[in-house]
Amino acid sequence: MKVLVTGGMGYIGSHTCIQMLAAGMTPIIIDNLYNSKPSVLGRIKEVTGVDVQFIEGDIRDKAFLTKVLKANDIQSVIHFAGLKAVGESVEKPLEYYDNNVHGTLVLVDAMREAGVSSLIFSSSATVYGDPASVPIKEDFPTSATNPYGRSKLIVEECLTDFQHANPDWSITLLRYFNPVGSHPSGKLGEDPQGIPNNLMPFIAQVAVGRREHLSIFGNDYPTIDGTGVRDYIHVMDLADGHIAALNGVGAKAGLHTYNLGAGKGYSVLEMVQAFEKASGNPIAYQFAPRRAGDIAECWADSSKAEHDLGWKATRTVDEMTQDTWRWQSHNPQGYPDEQA
Ligand code: NAD
Ligand code: UDP
Repeated sequence: MKVLVTGGMGYIGSHTCIQMLAAGMTPIIIDNLYNSKPSVLGRIKEVTGVDVQFIEGDIRDKAFLTKVLKANDIQSVIHFAGLKAVGESVEKPLEYYDNNVHGTLVLVDAMREAGVSSLIFSSSATVYGDPASVPIKEDFPTSATNPYGRSKLIVEECLTDFQHANPDWSITLLRYFNPVGSHPSGKLGEDPQGIPNNLMPFIAQVAVGRREHLSIFGNDYPTIDGTGVRDYIHVMDLADGHIAALNGVGAKAGLHTYNLGAGKGYSVLEMVQAFEKASGNPIAYQFAPRRAGDIAECWADSSKAEHDLGWKATRTVDEMTQDTWRWQSHNPQGYPDEQA
């Protein structure tokens, strides 16, 4: 099965391509390299032995997309491409709506023209806003507190309307919880540009000596130890979730929505401790005020994905921290700028 992977050079996309190859699928990547480096391709080859086809381009370019879709006999599209930094989205809402909303509309239009009617979309647990209770199920109310989250919600709503008008399409909305971890080889991982926004890459950069200390945003939440609680899911489990979705509902007409989380919450302090154990290094931290827009706790009920797709996260927090540490300690500055 040939699958177009938009944003396939990025963190989740690159790990998903590896698992697709292992499952006998053929990923074809398009990416504009806004937040990724060409050397990712060499790393995928080191791990899989396969030269994955990569075509540089932008999802907002309909002529380009239509040409790629038609020329490659694509059966399905996994759509990762987009901008993802919450803080940046507040500063640059137009860029976020243009990339995430407009980009997705152009993609679907090109798919329609090329006769490709199976789409898997990277959504996020952020669409649940501040949930009334945990664990979160797919039928919980949705809301947005920032332009990034709103862009995901708008896309979900556009895709829902489009699928209703085109009932022969298969559209799958995958709501990711907190992806962390790296490929177990240590060759691929998360490589944020500039100061990391997310907890795990920040901790990893403190452990490797790139940053002095972690700021823990809030220690007065009504949680186990006062720090925020999240559902961390190993990126390889998340990657497997895409294979399960492609196999389970990728050819089944309908709108399919799934939570992809591990179903358990860990606090910031618990993640710090797990990382100290994995790396053998102390992680210096200071408590800081709460971060605007953060919620106390959030974790998934992913039983729908288990029931329908036969998918369940299996990798432990120790694997998440050990694999992240292998990647970070072998690649302290992230991916090289040039192809090896
Ligand atoms: P990433 O930034 O590592 O990967 C995204 C890729 O898309 C990058 O390689 C970037 O260069 C590319 N891209 C961006 N705009 C593009 C455009 N207009 N045309 C072509 N390529 C473009 O991000 P990621 O962590 O791998 O996330 C993938 C998807 O999952 C995103 O849509 C993100 O919003 C969503 N998501 C991520 C998380 C997370 O915590 N990482 C959580 C929930 C949802
Ligand atoms: N966090 C923190 N310091 C950081 C980054 C994150 O204390 O430098 C906390 C954040 O407040 C939240 C948790 O770590 O409780 C996960 O945050 P992240 O940004 O990774 O994911 P989010 O759930 O916000 O999307």
